Order: sequence, then C-alpha cells, then structure tokens
Amino acid sequence: MSHAIRFHRTGGPEVLQWEAVDLPAPDAGEVRVRHHAVGLNFIDTYHRSGLYPLPLPSGLGMEAAGVVEAVGEGVAGLQAGDRVAYTSGPLGAYAEARNIEARHLVRLPEAISFEQGAAMMLQGVTAHYLLHSTYPVKAGETILVHAAAGGVGSILVQWAKLLGAAVIGTVGNDDKAVRAKALGCDHVIIYSRERFAERVRELTGGAGVAVVYDSVGRDTFLDSVSCLQRRGTMVSFGNATGPVAPFDCGLLARSGSVYVTRPGLLDYIATREELQARCAALFDAVGSGRLRIGINQRYALRDAAQAHRDLEERRTTGSTILLP
Ligand code: NDP
Repeated sequence: MSHAIRFHRTGGPEVLQWEAVDLPAPDAGEVRVRHHAVGLNFIDTYHRSGLYPLPLPSGLGMEAAGVVEAVGEGVAGLQAGDRVAYTSGPLGAYAEARNIEARHLVRLPEAISFEQGAAMMLQGVTAHYLLHSTYPVKAGETILVHAAAGGVGSILVQWAKLLGAAVIGTVGNDDKAVRAKALGCDHVIIYSRERFAERVRELTGGAGVAVVYDSVGRDTFLDSVSCLQRRGTMVSFGNATGPVAPFDCGLLARSGSVYVTRPGLLDYIATREELQARCAALFDAVGSGRLRIGINQRYALRDAAQAHRDLEERRTTGSTILLP
C-alpha cells in the first residue's frame, strides 16, 4: 500500500486528491522506488487542467528521486538500496512509492541529494537540451530568457552565463528581478510593467538577440519574435499564459527570416544514451558547484494542491519540491 495524489476529473487544484493506492511487486523490467522527494513542474498543471489531455483517473508528476526497494525480473544493474532519480515514464511521481520501468531511472551520484535530484531532473535536463541542442548558444551571443527567476529560467540563466552568453532576463516583479540579477542576468526587464521588446532593442543597440527562450506562450510570443536579430531563433517551449495562437508563416520572413521551434523534452531524451549524457552533464555542473539549484519552496506531498496554486499564481521562484 502507498499513498498518491490522483485526479478523476480535470480542473483547478481542488481536483487533486490524496488516495491510498495498491503497490504490487514490480513486474518484469520494473523497479519499485521509495520516493524521498518529488519535483513540481508547470507541466503538472497542464495535465491537471486538461490542457494536455490524459485518460482519467490519473496519477500526476513526472520526476522524483529516491531509493530502489525491489526489482522485477530481468532488471540488470540496479538493486535494493540504490539511489535513483527519473523524469520520464508514465505520470505518477506524486506518490510515496511506485513501480516504474528501469529504463527511465538514472543513478543519483553521492554529490547530489535526493532533494536536488527531484528539483532539477526535469528543469535541468530541459535547460541542457535548450542551450546545447535546440539552439546551441555560443560565447558572446546575447540571448533573452523569459521567466528568468522561475524553475527552468533560473537554470537557463546560470548555464547560459557558463557558456559565455550575455543574458537578458524578464521577470514579473521586483523581488524576482533581484533574484534574476543574482543568478547572473546582465539585464533584467520587469515585463509586467515595461514593454520588453522595446527594451531588448535598446539594450542590443537595435540588433536584437540571437535566441529567445519563451515559456510564457500566448502573451509573449509575437513580441518575442520581434526581439530577434536577423535569422535568429525563437524557441517557444511552454504555455504559462496559454497556448500560442496560430500565426501567418509570412511573419517569419517579415521579422528577418527567423526560425521558430516548439521543442518537447521527451524528443531530446528519446534514447537511453541521450538521457544519460544530459544527466551526466547536469550532475557534473551541479556536483561541482558551477550550477546552483535553488529549492525555494517545499510542501508536503499531500498539499500538492497548494503548491499548484502558488505556482500558477506566480508566487514561486526557482524549483519546488513535494515531500512524501
Ligand atoms: P516556472 O517556475 O518558470 O513558473 C512559471 C513562471 O512563468 C512563473 O513563475 C511566472 O514568472 C511566469 N508566468 C508568466 N505569466 C504567467 C501566468 N499567467 N501564469 C503563471 N505563470 C506565469 O515553471 P517551470 O520552470 O516548471 O516551467 C517553466 C515553463 O517551461 C513552463 O511553461 C513549462 O511548461 C515549460 N517547460 C517546457 C518543457 C519542454 O520540454 N518543452 C520542459 C520543462 C518546462 P514571472 O512572474 O517572472 O513572469
């Protein structure tokens, strides 16, 4: 027996329920993991609200860190007591313990705590692929990162600085501006009261930026495209304000022959090798102290609904974890 957050209908945070669930022995190829910490991500709110539809009832949550409790038939290389983490596989990380296929698990190095593991797997691997694969950022380029004090944003800013980029960050209020500056942003724009596209033109002497990392979606998409330099890249990777509206392809030519891409994490960790390589780079950057994972909110797992409210009402900064 375990306890988990589940939901039977889509809607606001109130649909999340704390339920007793069966925990059978792991099937062939599966491992039972006892969670020590669970990661909270904005995508969890899309699953809960129905923006990303799911068969119901459903579990929730894409990442956690913990200890292997039992292994099913045919699982090689993992045994009870191993420290592991994951950020893919069927939803269901919001649980005290669960069974999951071994191929989703990576070993957590001793230098990385369970809390760090749960806080950074999804957001850190995302930052890694966005900066290294979707648009490989080069030293000396100027880039724009929206929601720069948020979970993914905080990691993007720090890692882009390690790559030698100049970073312009946008944030929703003064407190977040202080945080974004401390993370390494060269310039911070409070986009709730300043017109960010105009400021970006000013800050770049009219040239625009090489790439925009935009997770805000509907409200910022068109202005973000207008921030690009000629043949720049618009990376639209989230929908915090709702999905981006359809647009005329001609806009890309009129904006300087720019590129638009809409990447998703699972396509960048589609093979075991790619997952492990990205995790190794992340663990190395965090374990060596070059990258800091700010765990700025902690909630009891059973209070996940409150965590969702705070995330959606823009009250959180950095990463958030749920504790079983
Ligand atoms: P964040 O911690 O960044 O939280 C979202 C932030 O978005 C808020 O803190 C807020 O920052 C900003 N925001 C702006 N407008 C709104 C609004 N109307 N409602 C809520 N938030 C708003 O979350 P995550 O780090 O978990 O995720 C960031 C984004 O990245 C999400 O859109 C998520 O879906 C996306 N993502 C995409 C992935 C992919 O592979 N495509 C993988 C991982 C995440 P502020 O107040 O400063 O504006």
